[in-house]
Amino acid sequence: MTKRSSLSLWGETAAEADPGVPIRDDIVTDVAVVGGGYTGLSAALHAAEKGIDACVLEAHQIGHGGSGRNVGLINAGLWLPPQDVRVKLGEARGARLIELLGKGPAYVMSLIERHQIRCELTRSGTIHAAHSPAGMKDLERRVGEWERLGAPVRLLSRAEAAEKIGSEAFFGGLLDARAGTLNPMGYARGLARAARAAGARIHTGAPVGKLTRDGDHWRLEAGAATVRAKSVILATNAYSDDLWPGLKSSYVPIHFFQVSTRPLGEQIAHILPQRQGLWDTGTIMFSLRRDADDRLIIGSMGSVMGGARGLSERWAGKQLTRLFPSLGPVEFETGWHGRIAMNAEHMPRIHRLADGLYTPIGYNGRGIAPGTIFGKAMADLLAGGDEADLPMPVTDVAPAPARAFKAGFYRMAFAANQMLKSL
Ligand SMILES: Cc1cc2nc3c(=O)[nH]c(=O)nc-3n(C[C@H](O)[C@H](O)[C@H](O)COP(=O)(O)OP(=O)(O)OC[C@H]3O[C@@H](n4cnc5c(N)ncnc54)[C@H](O)[C@@H]3O)c2cc1C
Repeated sequence: MTKRSSLSLWGETAAEADPGVPIRDDIVTDVAVVGGGYTGLSAALHAAEKGIDACVLEAHQIGHGGSGRNVGLINAGLWLPPQDVRVKLGEARGARLIELLGKGPAYVMSLIERHQIRCELTRSGTIHAAHSPAGMKDLERRVGEWERLGAPVRLLSRAEAAEKIGSEAFFGGLLDARAGTLNPMGYARGLARAARAAGARIHTGAPVGKLTRDGDHWRLEAGAATVRAKSVILATNAYSDDLWPGLKSSYVPIHFFQVSTRPLGEQIAHILPQRQGLWDTGTIMFSLRRDADDRLIIGSMGSVMGGARGLSERWAGKQLTRLFPSLGPVEFETGWHGRIAMNAEHMPRIHRLADGLYTPIGYNGRGIAPGTIFGKAMADLLAGGDEADLPMPVTDVAPAPARAFKAGFYRMAFAANQMLKSL
């Protein structure tokens, strides 16, 4: 029976503990980081390693946002194929971003190793699976460009995809050897532990309700405590609230849900035997992976619908039967969803909201490596770096056109998709 989790399976299975502590006293610091996900924690870790005094203020718990709820695919690059990124950003800047994020998974894995983060890391790559012949064409275009750039990606034929996935349902795939999987919450908590060990303060249960300029400092009100900081990083992404006017309306919020089975052991020995994580080329894409305890975790765009024995569980059962007809009925344990910050150009942004106040935002559903890298870039900037060296050009914040309409449209389309595919 599916237990609807307010956070995620990962919150229950992560081996790392949340190292956050409540905030009791007023604090004076160099940099206040609002948000305890990958972006904020990476910023705090790298800042602290450079000798900058950093303080993370997280409203709930470490990994409360996308960082504790995602699929755990450590992918390279962005959603857009590299050639499209260059068109959007220009040759030089685009090429630099592609190179940086192409190496993103390796950087994440190096952090996991350096700080001995217990997060069920696998290094056997990810598979972008073709759901149709048109999907396969898209993958061919992606592979062509990544190969030209020397990346270790390769196209899987229909037969090779069937062997690696354990399903005949796909037209082929793209295997990216740079990628891997992890327990998302384990990685978030491990980053927090590493940041704390490097000297950063990590406060949880510390919602920042007010942010104002006070002379040459920023003043943040977190519950009863006041934090004074020279610089502030808002690392609130899709979980942004009304703290900074206009930030929440600069992206379109969409949901992605996942349902996990109970541990299935030998029953799934033939499914993703090398433990690649998978997502498909469908417009309303779905994801599939195994965790370290041999649960199957399947997800798609939208929210968990219904409680125990609800619609999402039916959807998950139908999908698993379609993909793996010999699997037979399985028991589900946990269902959850999280919020993604999407924008029209499908690219992350870095806004300078005021002097000494920045926000990297809008990872469009790919934030494990990008969030880590953008957090590090913010620390480099605060250590005396140049804005021109940031991974994205710095821009002003602007409202997402037709935000409410788009958010409502996607919500309805995803719900209809889930209902139809549950029949
Ligand atoms: C379901 C799902 C699946 C995904 N799958 C993948 C994947 O497989 N691979 C991948 O690379 N990416 C994936 N992503 C995207 C990725 O999870 C995010 O891009 C990433 O976690 C963003 O990290 P972040 O630190 O910027 O923000 P978040 O992790 O969202 O953290 C923001 C934090 O800010 C806090 N906050 C907000 N307002 C305040 C305030 N006023 N005061 C204090 N704290 C505040 C929130 O509580 C939250 O913890 C997925 C996202 C979702 C939701």
